[in-house]
Amino acid sequence: MTVIYPGSFDPPTNGHLDIMKRAAGIFDQLQVIIADNPRKTYFFGAQERLGMIREMVADWPNVQVTLWQGLVVKYAEQSGARLILRGVRALADFDYEFELSMMNRALSPKIETIFMPTDQKYFVLRSSAIKEVALFGGDFSEMVPPVVAKALRERVQARKI
Ligand code: ADP
Repeated sequence: MTVIYPGSFDPPTNGHLDIMKRAAGIFDQLQVIIADNPRKTYFFGAQERLGMIREMVADWPNVQVTLWQGLVVKYAEQSGARLILRGVRALADFDYEFELSMMNRALSPKIETIFMPTDQKYFVLRSSAIKEVALFGGDFSEMVPPVVAKALRERVQARKI
């Protein structure tokens, strides 16, 4: 069975990577869908996020990574996948995720959302917090994969010049 894991991944974190690894171990195919919403401003552009995640999952042959500009359920309908995977941390995540799943169900009732709880190691990891840590000179090396740490360092450096 194929599962879709959509997100902004701006930037991808070790929490995201853990969900990808666990999903790739359960499902036949994992399709990571990177949101590329033209109305949103991202810290890393779509191609940068694509490159980072492709490198992160390079050793796992059953994982594909794709950019997508529209609704996730539309992608699911087009690709024939029936499952959307979302990772959840605290209860606060669940509120939002539950509403989103209801919305997606209303849009496309054949597509189911499933939730995977984070590993406790990644409970506090959040892309927005990691960007703050990076911009204020904190150490983020344990929070993101090496390819992301390198890109963050370069981006922070470029902003200082
Ligand atoms: P979005 O903008 O779609 O919420 P994110 O990149 O923030 O995109 O997150 C993508 C998915 O990964 C969401 O389901 C989110 O709850 C989940 N996620 C984010 N951080 C973690 C983490 N540390 N552990 C587990 N799941 C996470």
